[in-house]
Amino acid sequence: MAEGGVLKLTRELIARRSLTPDDAGCCELIGARLSRLGFKLEYLNAEGVTNLWATRGTGGPLVILAGHTDIVPPGPREAWATDPFQPSQADGYLYGRGAADMKSGLAAMVVAVERFVAAEAAPAKKGTIAFLITSDEEGPCRFGTKYVAEMLRERGIKPDYAIVGEATASEQLGDRIVVGRRGSLGCDLTVHGKQGHVAYPAKADNPIHRLAPALAELMAMRWDEGNAHFPPTSFQVSNLRAGTGANNVIPGTAECIFNFRYSSASSADDLRRKVTAVLDKHLPKHEARWWHTGEPYYTCAGALVTAATEAVREITGLVPTLFTGGGTSDGRFLAPLGAQVVEIGPVNETIHKVNECVRIDDLERLSRIYERLLARLLTA
Ligand SMILES: [Zn+2]
Repeated sequence: MAEGGVLKLTRELIARRSLTPDDAGCCELIGARLSRLGFKLEYLNAEGVTNLWATRGTGGPLVILAGHTDIVPPGPREAWATDPFQPSQADGYLYGRGAADMKSGLAAMVVAVERFVAAEAAPAKKGTIAFLITSDEEGPCRFGTKYVAEMLRERGIKPDYAIVGEATASEQLGDRIVVGRRGSLGCDLTVHGKQGHVAYPAKADNPIHRLAPALAELMAMRWDEGNAHFPPTSFQVSNLRAGTGANNVIPGTAECIFNFRYSSASSADDLRRKVTAVLDKHLPKHEARWWHTGEPYYTCAGALVTAATEAVREITGLVPTLFTGGGTSDGRFLAPLGAQVVEIGPVNETIHKVNECVRIDDLERLSRIYERLLARLLTA
């Protein structure tokens, strides 16, 4: 490969400090390679977010290869064995922030397309390949894939398939692919009471005492039983804050943040309604500020899941588990466009952790999986 293989490109991407929403030149690097292949590049940047939309081909099917260049902060340098922005190799692994999430996935996609295009002579190719790359997947996600998806909708562009290069494997490459994600709904709750001396509770109104039974009730609730595709909806409290710091003061307010990861057996409206009933019962004065960051999506058995399963099996010998757990991903913005969506990438063991790494052997194999998948979808 004249341009250099997956390892080289992954290293070049890791060396760019692309902390959300800074793309730090990653899209430029990828875009240069894609334009040499005849891709038409369009930057749909907004609010400091870099979004690259690149297409090659005509007509359907339209396959989107999707990913993000941004990374989560590495944290203190001392916590890492090596500099998170200086890719380093040891014991068969490549280390650096973004090694698994998801600069290796992006690099593997680019090299897969380079090979796929180079092999274009023989069997008739059909359809269009597009890259949708954003620098805001780890952040607020408002001006990233969501924004580009809205533009595609306005233009009447309907992707048939989307392949997201997030790290999805559990222990070894190919053991798991993601065919759906749960929805995400959260709430910032403020409970108002009345501040006072702990010795005179009658003259105060303790918001912690009001909140505790409400939380106990919410934690004991069974929201749904899940369904064939999703585990039951889960409710988790992530933050709880109250108190003035003094041990003899009843605080005036208490704050709580909680989050649902919900299955398609519930809707965001259902969950909000059920929670509101509990809050209204226990908390005479409160404010609930909700945020809804994704509907669940699920890709049924069909052309894409079959092609992905076969591609993984051909390259790794494994039949992947079809998984719907884990956090949210940008797949949630692509599925509503009507696309079948699967996520395939390297082992996710070290994502968002110190000493993030990817197995070097997996880089080329992942690229071969994408290449086989494209061949299955786009060869007449
Ligand atoms: Zn990611």
